[in-house]
Amino acid sequence: MTKTQETAVETQSMKRDFYKLFINGEQVEASDGGRTKVVNPATGEVIAEVAKATKEDAQRAVEAARAAFDNGKWKRTPTGRRARVLNKIAAIMRSRFNELVELEVLNTGKSIGAAQGQINQAIEDFEFYAGAIVGHRGSVNNVPGQFHNYTEKEPVGVCAQIIPWNYPLMMAAWKVAPAIAAGCSVIIKPASLTPLTAIILGEICHEAGVPEGVVNIVPGSGSEIGNFLVEHELVNKVAFTGSTPIGKDIMARASSTLKRVTLELGGKSPNLVFEDADIDAAVDGSIYGIFNNTGQSCEARSRLYIHESVYDEFMEKFIEKTNRIVLADPMSPETHVGSLIDQSQLDTVKYYVQSAIDEGAEILAGGKQLHPEGFENGFWYAPTIIGNVTQDMKVVREEIFGPVVVVSKFSDEKEAIKLANDTEFGLGSAIWSKDGARCTRVANQIEAGIVMVNCPFSAFPGTPFGGYKQSGFGRELAIETLDLYSETKSIMSYYGARPLNPFGL
Ligand code: NAP
Ligand code: MG
Repeated sequence: MTKTQETAVETQSMKRDFYKLFINGEQVEASDGGRTKVVNPATGEVIAEVAKATKEDAQRAVEAARAAFDNGKWKRTPTGRRARVLNKIAAIMRSRFNELVELEVLNTGKSIGAAQGQINQAIEDFEFYAGAIVGHRGSVNNVPGQFHNYTEKEPVGVCAQIIPWNYPLMMAAWKVAPAIAAGCSVIIKPASLTPLTAIILGEICHEAGVPEGVVNIVPGSGSEIGNFLVEHELVNKVAFTGSTPIGKDIMARASSTLKRVTLELGGKSPNLVFEDADIDAAVDGSIYGIFNNTGQSCEARSRLYIHESVYDEFMEKFIEKTNRIVLADPMSPETHVGSLIDQSQLDTVKYYVQSAIDEGAEILAGGKQLHPEGFENGFWYAPTIIGNVTQDMKVVREEIFGPVVVVSKFSDEKEAIKLANDTEFGLGSAIWSKDGARCTRVANQIEAGIVMVNCPFSAFPGTPFGGYKQSGFGRELAIETLDLYSETKSIMSYYGARPLNPFGL
């Protein structure tokens, strides 16, 4: 890379009319000049154009990533030095924090408070993996006397990373940080709706000293570019976050080349409020648990089960506070909840609410589209509580991915656990109770990758995030994620005085 190119990347504003692909350390147009429009879902307005990668572009990105991996420049960089580059990425992101937040809000319609928390976490993810990689190591294993065995962790290779639109930069950080910390090269396929901050992240990685070809960003169609990457024989691993049906499809496609696969998929997470809970804390935590990020979270606690003896008290407060949630200008610090991501997500929410009504459920709050002043053409929906539901209803069984929670009662701990586990998913879960023994007992029996005990938050850098059952497999955000971007090589040596002659020839 020449100094001029470096300066060009460094000095560019994040807000642009046109965003290019980022391949082999360069900003490039799509091979056929194709572009897509990106919309601010809070207003419905087009905010920018983005180059739309073709298969040819994806091929160039794979070749660049492969060459960068095979030339060894990055993977053989001592881990301490790789860590410094990751810290530099974090430092640049921090120095441009407000710009990143604003761009994320503009492209997602989420509230500025939510975006600030997510961008901050994205930065901390790079800092976490900068530290973690230095301690990532193999082992020395027990073998008979004159033998010696140790293992080495080696980067798995070229990784295709497919990102959803609900947390565009944070999900990119969850994938890029451990991958490049481990020495891999990556090709990121951002969601078509939200490619902007991922493109900027690629440029920042480069500015921080990641060699060309190690991080490539190719916005483009999931079914076209996504499939192409998943099937490509030069790609060693696929990491995907998104819907369960696409996750299943990816797993099947990746099998032809036996790629390593990690999948972070959908959820329908249970939220259990016991009779001995701190009701106010449970109300506040349950509101955040479902309505944060407009309910567009894979670990959204969308099934609320309340002990019958505290149901009325809980619900009175829960409904009252839900009706006070502020949906307004996403850039206003007063705003709690922003818009949905697009018309299709709005239609999905409307469809599920209608299905609940048709099946005999009762709308206890919300249940309608909103048109906040100044944002009349955006995709907004009121925080919605649905009662009088049964376990077989569509709205209870399927992931909605919107601001909709279903509520019902239970009468004892055993029933609460049974209801919690009555789902094909197994990502998040929450327990509200002041009885520590009960919390431990229930946490042990819930079939989910994450259990939140009296706690509204599901993850910090360093805590494993991932699912049981059809919520996928593999864990992100944790030390063990580094293993999922590594191969383990076992090195077996013999140091005996006499040469071995196993056949006795
Ligand atoms: P999706 O289709 O699973 O998309 C997620 C990512 O996968 C996007 O980058 C998408 O690209 C890409 N993709 C789509 N089809 C692909 C394919 N055949 N091969 C490889 N990659 C492919 O999710 P969605 O359509 O945006 O949302 C649908 C539902 O998925 C939501 O309502 C929600 O229930 C669930 N969802 C879950 C999560 C989560 O965090 N677990 C996140 C997002 C959505 P394009 O953007 O170009 O299509
Ligand atoms: Mg899709």
